[in-house]
Amino acid sequence: MLYAYKPINYKLKDVQILVESLVLDVWCKPNKQRCRTRLNDELKAIFDEYDWFKDRVNKIYSVCKNDLTAQDITAFKNAFENNNQIEKLCDGTLKPIYIKTLHSKLRKPLTDFFSELYTKFLGWALIYNTYKKKKDYYDELISKNNFIECPCCGFGDIKTEYSDGHSPFDHYLPQKYYPLSTINFDNLVPMCHICNSDNKGEKDIIKNGQKVFYPFATTHPIINVVIDFDTSKLPLLIKKSSIDTLPKGYFKISFNMSTDEISAWDKIFKIRNRYSAKVADNRVSWFNDVRQIFRDTDIHTPTSLNAIDKVIQYDSKKHLGIIKTAYLTKFKSMSYLLKAIEEVTGSSQI
Ligand SMILES: [Zn+2]
Repeated sequence: MLYAYKPINYKLKDVQILVESLVLDVWCKPNKQRCRTRLNDELKAIFDEYDWFKDRVNKIYSVCKNDLTAQDITAFKNAFENNNQIEKLCDGTLKPIYIKTLHSKLRKPLTDFFSELYTKFLGWALIYNTYKKKKDYYDELISKNNFIECPCCGFGDIKTEYSDGHSPFDHYLPQKYYPLSTINFDNLVPMCHICNSDNKGEKDIIKNGQKVFYPFATTHPIINVVIDFDTSKLPLLIKKSSIDTLPKGYFKISFNMSTDEISAWDKIFKIRNRYSAKVADNRVSWFNDVRQIFRDTDIHTPTSLNAIDKVIQYDSKKHLGIIKTAYLTKFKSMSYLLKAIEEVTGSSQI
């Protein structure tokens, strides 16, 4: 994550408490009574209203009651409690408990239940009449954080309160490996499609103790981008050519810090490759922005260095600003480019 979300208090997040009650108070404490009688009033109403829910809740209760030993039940309880402490799993202070370690009769029904629960549950009137809809929570989260671009990559398009629908909620710890965390909003992170579908997918991001950024962390480092490149293709930074192209990865991206979380973020979302491609795509227009400011007679910019500083000042908070700032900062150390800017003043040709 380039930026973490400031978490918000929102009723929808309490669906996790409802699910906790089902798992810990009913499934993990089976007795001679029928499943329905063990449910609290809220769960009972859902159980009576939706056959899908009733069938699966009954089935898992029956497995817990008839097939599991006390030790199996404890393992189930521990896995549920453990795998819902998302922040600790992200920062590496807790290790995940995989579903494959649970009793064989429990694995499939549990996985099926939780993976469908996310899509079904939140769309049921009995749930959203009490807890509100995902889109309501999404809008408030995005608007309170003042995000108009994806906080994960920093530039991808994300929907806002003015959009129809919402951008995807990424299951940060993916459902495939962590079905028990599927409806926990600490694990549901809005991000752009390119981060969510094209890059992250179902990767097990905390495999082998890998530390990752927690997306709702109260403290998150300020990440700055650093860009470097060799001088072999300098003319192509100024003007595109039909006979020569920049090699892929020409721009080397690094960051102002080197931590496990930064490497994981880069690896999961291919951040450095994507930033490098954005510089390649925009390099000529960014160069022209500097030229434009340099030759603008209304602004006192006696040197190309001043012009670069002004462009950075104007654009650092705009779309791609963090990458553009890093790129133009590198420009400042390259005398050939500074000279090129000054030589072409007043001319549209290099
Ligand atoms: Zn993104």
